[in-house]
Amino acid sequence: MGSDANPLEALYREVILQHYQHPRNKGRMEDAAATIRLTNPSCGDRIELFLKTSPDGRVEGITYEGQGCSISQASASMMTERIRGLSLDEALELAERFHQMLRGDAEAAKDERLGDLVALQGVSKFPVRVKCAALAWEALERSIEQVRSPQS
Ligand code: ZN
Repeated sequence: MGSDANPLEALYREVILQHYQHPRNKGRMEDAAATIRLTNPSCGDRIELFLKTSPDGRVEGITYEGQGCSISQASASMMTERIRGLSLDEALELAERFHQMLRGDAEAAKDERLGDLVALQGVSKFPVRVKCAALAWEALERSIEQVRSPQS
């Protein structure tokens, strides 16, 4: 009644739901170079990220296991799709763009490298949800750190 749904928001909701219900790259990886497990206590989201790099320093494989709200899990699914094949520096660059978008940066949200991830830009209006969307990306950043300093 009187609900005036924005068609773009409806489309974004659909993209998020698609990834939540049909996650890409979900599963454990036995020979991962880095494994990072993170939780978001404010929502109960859990992500375990597995990262493998090729000899020339690219993301050769990236998978995740997780449970939680649709935003946290869809963000992980979309992230793995965009990150595979990138160099570690490119992956960190994309993570920074994503964080900028979550802070409400409209320019960052136009970055084509984000692909489906633009569906999460509306999350910037909900600070509690930002943590959900950012969880997989924090796991990515930490796993890259782990790959670069394996002793720690
Ligand atoms: Zn959540």
